[in-house]
Amino acid sequence: MPRITWWRGPSGPRFDVATVTAMTTEPTKILLDESELPRRWYNLLADLPSPPPPALHPGTKEPIGPDDLAPLFPRDLILQEVSTERYIDIPEEVLDVYRLWRPTPLYRARRLEKALGTPAKIFYKYEGVSPAGSHKPNTAVPQAYYNAAAGIRRLTTETGAGQWGTALAFACSQFGLDCEVWQVRASYDQKPYRKVMIETFGGVIHPSPSDLTEAGRAVLAKDPDSPGSLGIAISEAVEVAARNADTNYALGSVLNHVLLHQTVIGEEALAQLAKVGLTPDLIVGCTGGGSNFGGLAFPFLREKLAGRMDVTIRAVEPASCPSLTKGVYAYDFGDTAGMTPLLKMHTLGHTFIPDPIHAGGLRYHGMSPLVSHIYELGLIEAVAKTQRECFEAGVRFARTEGIVPAPEPTHALAAAIEEALRCKETGEEKVILTALCGHGHLDLAAYAAYFAGDLVDHELDSAEVAANTAALPVTNA
Ligand SMILES: *Cc1c(COP(=O)(O)O)cnc(C)c1O
Repeated sequence: MPRITWWRGPSGPRFDVATVTAMTTEPTKILLDESELPRRWYNLLADLPSPPPPALHPGTKEPIGPDDLAPLFPRDLILQEVSTERYIDIPEEVLDVYRLWRPTPLYRARRLEKALGTPAKIFYKYEGVSPAGSHKPNTAVPQAYYNAAAGIRRLTTETGAGQWGTALAFACSQFGLDCEVWQVRASYDQKPYRKVMIETFGGVIHPSPSDLTEAGRAVLAKDPDSPGSLGIAISEAVEVAARNADTNYALGSVLNHVLLHQTVIGEEALAQLAKVGLTPDLIVGCTGGGSNFGGLAFPFLREKLAGRMDVTIRAVEPASCPSLTKGVYAYDFGDTAGMTPLLKMHTLGHTFIPDPIHAGGLRYHGMSPLVSHIYELGLIEAVAKTQRECFEAGVRFARTEGIVPAPEPTHALAAAIEEALRCKETGEEKVILTALCGHGHLDLAAYAAYFAGDLVDHELDSAEVAANTAALPVTNA
C-alpha cells in the first residue's frame, strides 16, 4: 500500500491503518450549504413553563412598556424583546449579510479526543470565521438593519475586549450607519488592534471612562485612573443615545432579542449533528452575558422541553466573575450609573468591578435574565473556572485542533475537557458539544502573559459578593 508508506519514518509507522481509515471516512467538519441557512430565529420564551419576571422602570419600579425603551431601541427590536412567538423570520437583508460567513462549520475535535484518550465525541461549532472573529455579528447585523430601517443615523455601544465594538462597526458599515464605541479603559490600553479594526470598519472609539459624558466624568472625578468596566461603558453609550434623537444604543449580549438572534448557532448545529445521526449528551458554553451560550443551547433546550432529546446543558463562567454560581438572583441595573431598566438576573452588584482577567467578554456583573430564569427553573447547570486552567485548555486545544481560541471560550473548553476525561474513567461515549465562539488572534498578549507565568487565579468569595449586593435597588420582588 504505497499510500501509507510515507508515514513510515525511521522509527516505524506513526499512524496505524485503523486510524487512517477512521480519519478518511468520518468527517472532520460538518458543513451546511448556504441554502440550509436557518431562515428563522427561535424564541425560547414560547416554550418555557413560566415567563421570566419583567424588566422594571428605574424610576417608578413598575414593569416597563415599549415606550420606555423607544429612546434607545427601534420598534422591531422592542417587539422582539417581548415577543412570545416561537419563530421570528430573519429579514432577507440580514440573511444576505449572514451569507458572508454562515453557515459556520461544526468540527469534530478528533485530534483533541485522541490526545485526551477519551471515548467521548467532542464537537465544536466555530464562530471565529465571522468578520469580527466571534459570534457577535449574528446580532450586530440585525440590530444595525432594524435601526437603519427605522431611520436612525448612528449607533452607540460599549465594548470590553473589543469583540462587540468590532462586530457593530462592521454591521454599521453594511447599512450606512455611524458607529461610536466606548471601550473599557483596561482593554483599550491592552488591546490596541481592536481599536484599529473598529476604525477600519469606519467606527469611532473612545476609552471609558471618558470626559464626553456625565457618567464618565463622575467616575473620573472619583478615580482619574479608573480601569473602567462594562457597566461604566454602558452608562456612557446609553447617555449619548438618550440625548440624541438620531442616535440609538445597541447591546451585544444579555437582552432577549440578542439571544434570539444568536439561535442561528444552535439551529445550524442541530442540523449538522443530525447529518451524522447524533444528538448531544452535554452542551457546554461560556457565559459573559449569556448570548453565545443561549444561542447554541436554546434550540436544543426546545428539543429537550418537547421530550425529543435528553441533554445536559452547562454554563461555564470565570471564578473571578461568577454571577450564576455565586451572585444573587435579584433586580439590578445593567449599568453602573443606574440608567438602564432593572433586570431580574444573577448579579454581583452593578458597582462591582471584576478582576482585569484576560477573558474581557466575561467581565460583566450580571447575566441575561433569560439564562438566569432557566437556571432558576433547573433547566441548566453552571460551573466556574479559574483562568489558568482555562488557558491550559486553550493551549491544549490549539496544539491539537490548530485554532488559538479567544480567552472566553477556553472556559467552555476546560469544562469540555473535564467531561471528556471523566468519560475516559467511566468508558462513556458521550457526545459533547461546545461553541468555539471566537478565535484569539487579537488576544495573543493574554497567551504571552500565561506563558510568562504572569496570570493569577482569583476566586470571588461570598463575603465580597454580599458586600457588593447589600444595597441593590429593589428588595427582592
Ligand atoms: C462577547 C464575547 C463573549 C461573552 O458574551 P456572551 O454574551 O456571554 O456570549 C464570549 N466569547 C466571545 C468570543 C465574545 O466575543
